[in-house]
Amino acid sequence: SRRIGVVAVQGNVSEHVDAIERAAAATDHAVEVVEIRESGVVPDCDALALPGGESTTISRLLRLEGIDDEIRDHAAAGKPILATCAGLIVAARDARDDRVDTLGLLDVSVDRNAFGRQVDSFEAGLDVEGLDDPFHAVFIRAPVVDEVGPDVDVLATWEDRPVAVAQGSVVATSFHPELTADDRLHRLALFDPLLADADVGAEA
Ligand code: GLN
Repeated sequence: SRRIGVVAVQGNVSEHVDAIERAAAATDHAVEVVEIRESGVVPDCDALALPGGESTTISRLLRLEGIDDEIRDHAAAGKPILATCAGLIVAARDARDDRVDTLGLLDVSVDRNAFGRQVDSFEAGLDVEGLDDPFHAVFIRAPVVDEVGPDVDVLATWEDRPVAVAQGSVVATSFHPELTADDRLHRLALFDPLLADADVGAEA
């Protein structure tokens, strides 16, 4: 069974747990989902979700608990991470905000709440690279990705701005895939890479 951790210091934790369990059931895979509030758990996880919520709070608690470096090591080892909304802000290289200690997992810079200045929340159907049909995306005080490094793939845009990005084993969205019943992004980010690993193991 695969162990998938949901970073649970603050934010939309139970929604990610549910989405991961749905994705596992739909693909007939055994997973153990663990909520991460302290150090020492991340090293035993095969994949991680980094939820939305409040990025200043999340980054402060990750650092306080010593979970920040464990997440950096997890990404450096090429293990999957799905970061959503505030999770994207925390995963970025730069959030242009001293109150957010970014993890630098993705070579992007983000503007916190940039969509939110115009409109608090909105929904849109997005074409996402790797998915056959549009994804119904829920944006809530969403960050804007305003700089993308050369090693970052843009998986989806909205009004010409990146809203889903990937670099190595890290996938991040400025919207909230955990708030809809559609678990395709959880599968894409967290399950497909694990299944690919499992296939390699089976052939070896
Ligand atoms: N704007 C929030 C922040 O800066 C993120 C919003 C969200 O995750 N829904 O943390």
